[in-house]
Amino acid sequence: MIFSSALIENAVSEFARLPGVGKKTALRLVLHLLKQDTAQVEMFAEAIAKMRRQIKFCKTCHNVSDEDTCTICANASRNHKVVCVVESIRDVIAIENTQQFNGVYHVLGGSFPRSTVSARISCKSTRSWSGCSNWAWKR
Ligand SMILES: [Zn+2]
Repeated sequence: MIFSSALIENAVSEFARLPGVGKKTALRLVLHLLKQDTAQVEMFAEAIAKMRRQIKFCKTCHNVSDEDTCTICANASRNHKVVCVVESIRDVIAIENTQQFNGVYHVLGGSFPRSTVSARISCKSTRSWSGCSNWAWKR
């Protein structure tokens, strides 16, 4: 793509670094932002920068959090004896959206071989929420 502005070209290149965003989509997003109020675009940019600067990981479960302990771990009404081991934060979000799990999580932050987990702990598949193939066990 040939741009008449290095500023536009730079913004397109940055958007195109996002997963699933190609150059055409990046250009569409940049041109959309160009039509917005400057203040609106600055709020958008600041929200992303602030999220990245200030995000924490729960010291207990490694979920994303605004504090040292996430809201799930801090919630005394949840069953802290049932732990769902998940690969990523996306799994926590998906399970939480079902509103079917009242335990807590342990976010591994990477893929893991299921055989390793089942060898170390006594697992059971909860399968109480649709599409979840993760494991839970009692402490
Ligand atoms: Zn937590």
